[in-house]
Amino acid sequence: MHSESPYDAAVNNIRKLLAEQVERVERISKPVEWIDYSKLDRLVVGVIGGDGIGPIIARETSRVLETLLNEEIRSGRVEIRQIEGLTIENRIKQMKPLPDEVLKKIQKCHVLLKGPTTTPEEGSGMPNIESANIAIRRAFDLFANVRPVRVPSEGIDWVFFRENTEGEYMLGSRGMMVTPDLALDFKVITRPGAERIIRLAFEHARRTGRKKVTVVTKANVVKTTDGLFLETAKKVAGDFPEIRWDGWYIDVFTAKLIDPKRRREFEVVVLPNLYGDIVTDEAAELQGGVGTAGSANLGARFGMFEAIHGSAPRMITEGRGAYADPLSLMRAAVMMLEHVGMIEQSRRLAMALDICAIYDRRVVITGRQDGATASQFGDQVMAAMSDPGLAARWNSYQGK
Ligand code: NAD
Repeated sequence: MHSESPYDAAVNNIRKLLAEQVERVERISKPVEWIDYSKLDRLVVGVIGGDGIGPIIARETSRVLETLLNEEIRSGRVEIRQIEGLTIENRIKQMKPLPDEVLKKIQKCHVLLKGPTTTPEEGSGMPNIESANIAIRRAFDLFANVRPVRVPSEGIDWVFFRENTEGEYMLGSRGMMVTPDLALDFKVITRPGAERIIRLAFEHARRTGRKKVTVVTKANVVKTTDGLFLETAKKVAGDFPEIRWDGWYIDVFTAKLIDPKRRREFEVVVLPNLYGDIVTDEAAELQGGVGTAGSANLGARFGMFEAIHGSAPRMITEGRGAYADPLSLMRAAVMMLEHVGMIEQSRRLAMALDICAIYDRRVVITGRQDGATASQFGDQVMAAMSDPGLAARWNSYQGK
């Protein structure tokens, strides 16, 4: 009996991956009904602290939400439920990115507010466990990562729709060393996968009265996968005749994001996974850093809302955890409230955050001891939310 050659082993491996992908395309092609949050008697909001600075910013965000939704919580229409166990220590103990008992608890919630979680990397001394985020996105098929970025003084008001389940990340831990000198990874774009994220971006533009959707790819070079994404965009755009759309290549789009004149023209932007990951961090930096940006991970039946940054372990080891900016997770909470149809409460929190972080800036977070703590910022937000003149104050800043 002769042993399998490296070439045959790689081909067999690819055969297995292809079979899985074909099955997945069939699965995600089936129509799914979106959950209607307005029909729920009781909305259960799960809160996970996570690792590093996660529990600190999650505590402040829970505190703000409990005040904002005081009435709904008292009447039993909303429950805010703390979920323990999604820590790096527990995940290492169980050698699972998403321990079973945590998954079960998340499944009993309708939406999840999640602090960042650490993903062990090569050389960290920790075992190689997959990202908890990727595991949650996969478990609930959260295909859309929505990230707003706003800098009113610069005329910037963008909403990014990053595809969350495909691209280079989908098989990111399934690449192969074909021979000791040949590494191979995969990029996957599917027609239904592209269609559902692009459609969501166009629907968002329609619902919020925005006029333009920008589709970002590198279809001139990465012809097959990005080509399919662009081709799908053309087709979907046909269903939204009132919305203009244009296609950009990722390299020039990234450059134009720092061109003060050109960047004002972007409104809604939709992109495949890897480009979206990189560009949204760049965009968040223009807004004041990753600590200021929230994001939504949406699927038809579930939504997870989180900061765009990670667990910032260095802030903890340097004793700066208390100075972490909770704005990121609070902005994610704004998106969550809007998603479940609590529009008025969402507006109230959004205005309070603008007043505290952009306009009044009575306390300023720097991430260091020379700035305010997360908890001092939380106090400011609570004070702003309870001000009966909040809307008038917020309006007075508009157009300035
Ligand atoms: P990071 O985003 O955690 O931190 C980078 C730097 O940004 C920090 O050192 C800090 O200076 C600053 N920063 C981040 N959040 C801040 C906040 N709220 N306030 C003030 N400053 C803030 O990036 P990293 O160091 O590359 O990642 C750390 C860990 O987080 C890794 O294990 C990574 O895998 C994980 N991660 C998790 C998520 C998630 O759970 N969604 C996302 C990204 C990274």
